[in-house]
Amino acid sequence: MKKILITGGAGFIGSHLCLKLLNEGNYIICLDNFYTGAKRNIEHLMSYPDFKLVEQSVIEKFDCEVDEIYNLACPASPIHYQSSPIETTKASVLGILNMLELANKYNAKILQASTSEVYGDPVVHPQIESYWGNVNPIGLRCCYDEGKRCAESLMTDYYRQYNTNIRIARIFNTYGPNMAVNDGRVISNFIVQALKNEPVTIYGNGNQTRSFCYVDDLINGLTSLMESNLNSPVNLGNPDEYTMLELAKLIIDITNSKSQIIFKPLPEDDPVKRKPDISLAKKTLGFSPTVSIKNGLIKTINYFKNII
Ligand code: UDP
Repeated sequence: MKKILITGGAGFIGSHLCLKLLNEGNYIICLDNFYTGAKRNIEHLMSYPDFKLVEQSVIEKFDCEVDEIYNLACPASPIHYQSSPIETTKASVLGILNMLELANKYNAKILQASTSEVYGDPVVHPQIESYWGNVNPIGLRCCYDEGKRCAESLMTDYYRQYNTNIRIARIFNTYGPNMAVNDGRVISNFIVQALKNEPVTIYGNGNQTRSFCYVDDLINGLTSLMESNLNSPVNLGNPDEYTMLELAKLIIDITNSKSQIIFKPLPEDDPVKRKPDISLAKKTLGFSPTVSIKNGLIKTINYFKNII
């Protein structure tokens, strides 16, 4: 049995990770301040004797002997991180510093949840790990992008200076059950709007693209990465790419909705295209997403039907 700390464990991705690692027989410490995480996401885990919840921010010092750390704590949806930009940078930068100190103290492995946002509005397509990105350092998204880039730097410097056992996952757009109704990201927005027969809001002309990974596939990628020896960044996501217009039509179709599509202004610095090159993850981790967008959307739609 390993003792595993998951920061942001009550969040969308964190809650799935807690469940998987508990079911594999580990002791889980879930650290979350519920800024964007939700008690509902971990209610079903509270009865496990090997699950412990610590209600605190990753910015505060935390000390406990652990074998592994998954550092997921950070608001990740543009509307959330942009509403508290300074706290977002602190969560990324001070959060990873705290966790790296902990990893060093107890010789634990540490995995950082990084992001496709380190590529900014990419001019290389699809995005490969060797691409340095195109990030606006003073834009509305910079608190998240630069915070996560700084966390990658700190991870790598701890590796160079102290030989810390690091893993860096660059997570591309992910969706599935346990996303919040008010998350603000495109899949949850479109599903909630379609289920309520309200207008589906496309920002801009809808020709921008994203590539969506179902959460179960992503979780398998994260745990395989932790088990591997890879200490450089690796992309994790599903390379199937869609325009937002295609996505809106697909969700309206699957939900049998009467919703109309409406167009709203494109937010500042919204990336035009995004699609991961997952060759490295395939080769080194055997990572290969298996859930199609249609099947993943059906599961996610059923989840939202139950909670709204
Ligand atoms: N988007 C949209 N309508 C919405 C929410 C988002 O058209 O109701 C667009 C957004 O402008 C972006 C894409 O969908 O181009 C993905 O946005 P999201 O917030 O999910 O994540 P991002 O990949 O931008 O971080």
